[in-house]
Amino acid sequence: MQITRIKSHVLQYDLPEELGYSQQYYSKRSAHLVEVETDEGITGWGECFGPGSIAVANKTIVEKVIQPLVVGENPLDRDVLWHKVYNLLRDHGQKGMPLQALSGVDIALWDIAGKVAGLPIAQLIGGFHRTKVQVYGYGMMLRRENPTAMASRFRDEAAVIREMGFRATKMKLGLGPKADVKLASAVRAGIGPDFRFMADANHCYTTADAFYVGRALEELECYWFEEPVAPEDHDGYRELRAGLKVNISGGEAEFNRWGWRGLLESRALDIAQPEVCALGGISEYLRVLALCHAHFVPVVNHVWGSAIAVATNLQLLAAMPPLPGGLYPSEPMLEFDTTDNRFRDELLKEPLDIQQQIKRNDGYADVPQGAGLGVEPDRDFIRHYEIAA
Ligand code: CA
Repeated sequence: MQITRIKSHVLQYDLPEELGYSQQYYSKRSAHLVEVETDEGITGWGECFGPGSIAVANKTIVEKVIQPLVVGENPLDRDVLWHKVYNLLRDHGQKGMPLQALSGVDIALWDIAGKVAGLPIAQLIGGFHRTKVQVYGYGMMLRRENPTAMASRFRDEAAVIREMGFRATKMKLGLGPKADVKLASAVRAGIGPDFRFMADANHCYTTADAFYVGRALEELECYWFEEPVAPEDHDGYRELRAGLKVNISGGEAEFNRWGWRGLLESRALDIAQPEVCALGGISEYLRVLALCHAHFVPVVNHVWGSAIAVATNLQLLAAMPPLPGGLYPSEPMLEFDTTDNRFRDELLKEPLDIQQQIKRNDGYADVPQGAGLGVEPDRDFIRHYEIAA
């Protein structure tokens, strides 16, 4: 069996309204899918993390840099190919876009391996620790409105997300420490006292400001405080974790086993959030997961993007061992974006329809049982949204 071609698809549409987080506002939704073709008619699908112009640049890396290294090779040799590509790219990028590009290719190779074996990826990894996964819904994005209006919108949106059937919710921070505390109070008011919420700063604070916000989050019984400071600031993370009661989470901007080793050894995290579509794909995710568990740090995957990313993460969450185990173990959650995203809702021939599943199923989504990722994208849909890049 041989790889014959690798094709990237960058999809994009204009959002009905602008959305924001602490670093920027954005008005387009995009996704970057990778398709690996073989001489036996089996095609694998993967996804690369990174929106807009990042996706366009990653497409070039996938097609112009990685493709020539793997065409003609056996797609079942995914770990061999991972190391061939990584070792040759090492001098040009051990983190960031080269790894995002490699991630999409590696995920597609796992999809092929599952299709060849006739098994879901979770089974290839080692089996189903769970066949359904609890889902948390994130929303409460920033918009260009005054802080009082935003707090009132956050309160209403939080209540709606709870009503939709999610097991927990997550809000954005980013207006500045004082205003952010008001936003978090509004979210707690919207969901009531007995529902789990998390807050995501997307690394916008200094350590001092993060302490101020973190103390307020403790009072509000927030479950985790995500990316409080810059991902490079391991000392800041460690000080926050030692000084605050709220769980400190992060890691979506970290790459491969060597990056994660440093993050974990610095004792930075209560909860690790690896992003499989960025850190190096499923092959590298499994090594990072083992490192996290070796440090007794629980993992709740970061999830972003299309239904391919959601399906990939459902397989990984199904195959994740409990840490440390018990009659009532702490269970991972699937991260799910509640804002407008056609690439998540309409890409597949048979949509996952997570929103309907959680409504029916007390906040849980089933893990697809088909071969590979267990899902197939609709090529007409891809053609409709694909941009020239
Ligand atoms: Ca985040």
